[in-house]
Amino acid sequence: MLSWGRYGPARAPRKAPRLINALADIIWPPVSLLSYEPVSAHGQLSPADWSKITFLDRPWCQTCGFPFDFPVGEGAVCGPCAARVPAFDTARSAFVYTPESRQLVLSLKHGGRVDGLAAFGGWMKRAGADVLDGADLLVPVPLHGQRLRKRRFNQSLLLARALTRLTGIRTDPHMLVRTRATPSQGGRSAKGRRRNVAGAFRVRAGRKPRLEGAHIVIIDDVYTTGATLEACARALKRAGAARVDALTLARVVKPADVIT
Ligand SMILES: [Zn+2]
Repeated sequence: MLSWGRYGPARAPRKAPRLINALADIIWPPVSLLSYEPVSAHGQLSPADWSKITFLDRPWCQTCGFPFDFPVGEGAVCGPCAARVPAFDTARSAFVYTPESRQLVLSLKHGGRVDGLAAFGGWMKRAGADVLDGADLLVPVPLHGQRLRKRRFNQSLLLARALTRLTGIRTDPHMLVRTRATPSQGGRSAKGRRRNVAGAFRVRAGRKPRLEGAHIVIIDDVYTTGATLEACARALKRAGAARVDALTLARVVKPADVIT
């Protein structure tokens, strides 16, 4: 298995000569990101797999990006955001997390399959256009040291770097520290999830000057209830960030779809 080092690949792989690429395609023929159907190039979805992904778009909650079934006025917010304003300013996600689409997330997170990163970055850039506009820094949600050692890479950092390559907005993998290993969020209510991650993140000493008045976008793989993103946003705002948004690859819309 390839070693991605502590924080994932240090830089984008160098462009391989055309002959090597052609040989690699014979040895490892490109297959769809969601299935093993053949496709014309690495990092693509087959037409059948495209139809299984629901990409998020307006109309959505202006605050958390929850999709609405019908057009609503510009600036409308969903019930939960109206009842309790989240700690982040705005959240956006590329596609709906469903039993079918979750394979894209799991193969990155647990399988280390990185050939989808360029596509994922493109989808997140499109969905997050309004949060990336004018952003100063991308901050991936950090893993706790124990989990990072076990998994060997942080999938949120890989996504952030894919976005940096497309937008030029820098990624800072050292801004936030996870101060404790939080038990799995699986099976917890929204309130339970918030309690579970409360105070689990802090800004690394020495990073505060960079945060003063800054517009930060937190990057993660899945928005489930927003509890982790909110815990990160609180830490960043306490340390001086002026605006903290969140951008994730997938978004849970129906809690029943969550399988951890
Ligand atoms: Zn909302």
